[in-house]
Amino acid sequence: MRSISILGATGSIGASTLDLIRRNPQEWRVTALTANCQAQELAALAREFGAEIAVVADTSCLDDLREALAGSGIEAAAGTRALCEAAARGADLTVAAIVGCAGLAPTMAAIEQGGTVALANKEALVSAGDILLAAVERNGATLLPTDSEHNAIFQCLQGNSISDVSWITLTASGGPFRDWTGGQLRQATPAQAVKHPNWAMGAKISVDSATMMNKGLEFIEAHHLFPVGLDRLRIVVHPQSVIHSMVEYRDGSTLAQLGPSDMRVPIASCLAWPRRIDTPCKPLDLPGLGQLSFFPLDEERFPATRLCREAAEAGGAAPAVLNAANEVAVAAFLAGQIGFTDIAAKVDRMLARAIPAPPESLECVLAIDAEARERTMELLEHA
Ligand code: NDP
Repeated sequence: MRSISILGATGSIGASTLDLIRRNPQEWRVTALTANCQAQELAALAREFGAEIAVVADTSCLDDLREALAGSGIEAAAGTRALCEAAARGADLTVAAIVGCAGLAPTMAAIEQGGTVALANKEALVSAGDILLAAVERNGATLLPTDSEHNAIFQCLQGNSISDVSWITLTASGGPFRDWTGGQLRQATPAQAVKHPNWAMGAKISVDSATMMNKGLEFIEAHHLFPVGLDRLRIVVHPQSVIHSMVEYRDGSTLAQLGPSDMRVPIASCLAWPRRIDTPCKPLDLPGLGQLSFFPLDEERFPATRLCREAAEAGGAAPAVLNAANEVAVAAFLAGQIGFTDIAAKVDRMLARAIPAPPESLECVLAIDAEARERTMELLEHA
């Protein structure tokens, strides 16, 4: 039996992970499950899986959590420090699936225990890539990419040397607005933006997929995970989301990973790594699919990938500023405060301002993140 903690257990990645664990209960012992404020949901999961501890980030939800766990013997805690302490209990595998930079400190706490971390929380890597990877190295931890594209690349690199890679190609579905005109994009609503054609995901990443910011964040994520150089990373639009990414080698061989659009496939790959386990996912029906198509990016209509590439090239604090500005702008869009195309426009404005000095520690990144959030909110208020 291996122990597992799931940071962000009540979310979409959390649900997919727990679904796989539910199918193999004899393999896993659950240490910690966390959420932001869905206390009832978290308590139900903690009871079902016999977790040692359940933690909500929002302290105002602790009473609800305690009440829902009464008599279970499961510890209840709240707040950022409690989240980090739960992550530091040192499970064999920690699934980092909190959304946004809020996941950074708990992910770091898990890495510092030197175990294996399955990383879905791409914003943590975007904001603090160098610092997180240095901590992985220092603590002898193992980072398993869970994002489907990065998991695909990870799989395609097995048994090969990164120095033989000519290109890494991230595939992008193009999101729900792939064929929309600029005029239509300006009118896009939150309800339309969260309706992804291929994937069922949380609200924030769904909006990121619609703006293509998600692919830009993944570009930065890939830059940290697979150090081939920014000029060897590219993005291609592939509406069917069957090929999850590709690695081309110097001899002209291109390895691709294909699979259904179901996060349980990359999550299963992390749970079982370096072996394989069954999933309930339907096998690919290639004759049924008929064809796979590919298109170049349109950065006129979807400038977010350009912004991310520029932030990656600038390095230092730029990706953390970009990420913070995007998180604030996406929340404002979901709340009906700004339009869809304003999201990338606000991020662009924030990147055009003076960028703070490169962060040297986790605390520096968190300070840059907090300041950039404040300044983006000011920008929104004075729009
Ligand atoms: P969801 O919104 O579905 O879930 C987010 C989880 O994080 C929930 O458990 C939520 O708790 C918790 N959470 C939210 N805010 C905070 C906070 N401030 N502090 C602590 N916990 C918090 O997100 P997804 O599962 O879709 O995505 C999670 C991460 O995985 C993201 O970084 C995303 O980019 C990445 N990812 C997701 C994919 C997907 O298919 N969903 C694919 C690839 C990557 P509560 O329920 O209480 O709000």
